[in-house]
Amino acid sequence: LLRHLLLKLRASGPLTVAEYMREALTNPGQGYYTRRGGVGESGDFVTSPEMSQVFGELIGIWYISEWMAAGKPKAFQLVELGPGRGSLTDDILRVFTQLASLLSKCDISIHLVEVSPKLSEIQAQMLTGGKVQSSPRDDTVYMKGISKTGIPISWYRDIQDVPQGYSFYLAHEFFDALPIHKFQRTEKGWREVLVDEDPEVPDQLRFVLAPSSTPATQNFIQPEETREHVEVCPEAGVLIQRLAHRLEKDGGAALIADYGHDGTKTDTFRGFQNHKPHDVLKAPGTADLTADVDFSYLRKMTQGRTATLGPIKQREFLKNMGIDLRLQVLLQNSRDTATQEQLRHSYDMLMNPQKMGDCFHFFALLPHHRLTHPDQKDNLQPRAPLVPVAGFSELTLK
Ligand code: SAH
Repeated sequence: LLRHLLLKLRASGPLTVAEYMREALTNPGQGYYTRRGGVGESGDFVTSPEMSQVFGELIGIWYISEWMAAGKPKAFQLVELGPGRGSLTDDILRVFTQLASLLSKCDISIHLVEVSPKLSEIQAQMLTGGKVQSSPRDDTVYMKGISKTGIPISWYRDIQDVPQGYSFYLAHEFFDALPIHKFQRTEKGWREVLVDEDPEVPDQLRFVLAPSSTPATQNFIQPEETREHVEVCPEAGVLIQRLAHRLEKDGGAALIADYGHDGTKTDTFRGFQNHKPHDVLKAPGTADLTADVDFSYLRKMTQGRTATLGPIKQREFLKNMGIDLRLQVLLQNSRDTATQEQLRHSYDMLMNPQKMGDCFHFFALLPHHRLTHPDQKDNLQPRAPLVPVAGFSELTLK
């Protein structure tokens, strides 16, 4: 991949950080996700659903709670973006099975958006036991199967190919993998950061500043910006617009969980290999590259089509979802001390402010009518109170 990038640079000049990140992560032959996939204990980074079943269970309950608040529609699609090893959907499906009596009349289907052939194979194994049909010549649905619990699953490369309809969207540690542009404030104004060949060291890359303003500088930097360095992820913006359009038209909800900030951080672009920090410009394609999600940008890109909730810290969201109760039940039901120890350890990883509790955030998109009554000026009838959205406010037990 480095050779390919050097040839490209020599032919047409420096790359934007976004082009570099896209190549490093999802180049069809040599990209990090396409080739390695890296998620899990033996990979380069471990995510919350890989750590604990409770994480996915509580998210499953969040969707059921939204489904009930919407008046139990007859059908829904669960659409996961970047499902990794498939553990999160697997845990959610277990909850759906446990609550089968509630969901029995509902027609549920699963839709996974995944670019990595390697990870989609792992997902198929996890969710269906490997019983899938591939359709390599079909551009839209490239694989189909039935979950171990009897629910149809389809795989796509792009969200645009997922059928429209009432849907619950899920993106966990997905947005941080989308390519970012980087900008630096200089005495001459904003300049885009680019990736170029280092003239001093053979076959090594380095960051340079564009000599003049680029179209991206003009389009992505807000006039009121006060930071010295800014990262912008236009692909995330386009995706949020698509989700907001779909939710406005068909209803449902989107839950986005990732590490991020609300438009305050500057340089967050970093790499991981083997659970250790990795120079982002070294050996592209061999390490996970990531940047914090700017939730304020996501909120702006909904363009008011949906309401948004959050970002709220992971430990607050999970607490509001009842993680403490769930832990107690699992501890009571586990027979050996090793299992109890493992349950406590994974709870600590998810909730401890120094671990994943504070840096990961939950953010939701919901149709406006979910949070506010439509304006009914002529109707003076008292309105039924709106059901609070689980996870985003304190849990009250009745
Ligand atoms: N959600 C999982 C995995 C996170 S890793 C978890 O929390 O464990 C990021 C995931 O997004 C991987 O499955 C990766 O292959 C996928 N991915 C990255 N870029 C993508 C893109 N542009 N389109 C679709 N999937 C992508």
